[in-house]
Amino acid sequence: MKAKMPKTNEEWFKKLTPEQYDVLRKKGTEVAFTGKLLHNKKNGMYTCAGCGAELFSSDTKFDSGTGWPSFTEPANRKNVELKEDNSHFMHRTEVICKNCGGHLGHVFNDGPGPAGKRFCINSCALDFKESNKKKK
Ligand code: FE
Repeated sequence: MKAKMPKTNEEWFKKLTPEQYDVLRKKGTEVAFTGKLLHNKKNGMYTCAGCGAELFSSDTKFDSGTGWPSFTEPANRKNVELKEDNSHFMHRTEVICKNCGGHLGHVFNDGPGPAGKRFCINSCALDFKESNKKKK
């Protein structure tokens, strides 16, 4: 996986769709309610659209009503980097794929459950690997 990973912006531009490039490499935000994985309720693993790293499990996905896929926690904390983001006159925490450095979205403290986190992730920054395992 690592050997084939693009390094330069030009290589990323060739590998990704224009929308994915804007989000993953330029920290853009996709238009709300447009992502193809927003209403995906299948069982499986959400991976990084840039590099394939496993990021979020379907078990933690919930409908936040915001228009972006939302999760209560990462599948593997080691694959996700959190970084303070003070751009656009806001104080937010950016969520980054640790493996490829791609921008995924932001995490907020208004989520459900004991941890209270809402990982708000751009659909186009994700791929989905369906698992056959039945949902409980
Ligand atoms: Fe990645």
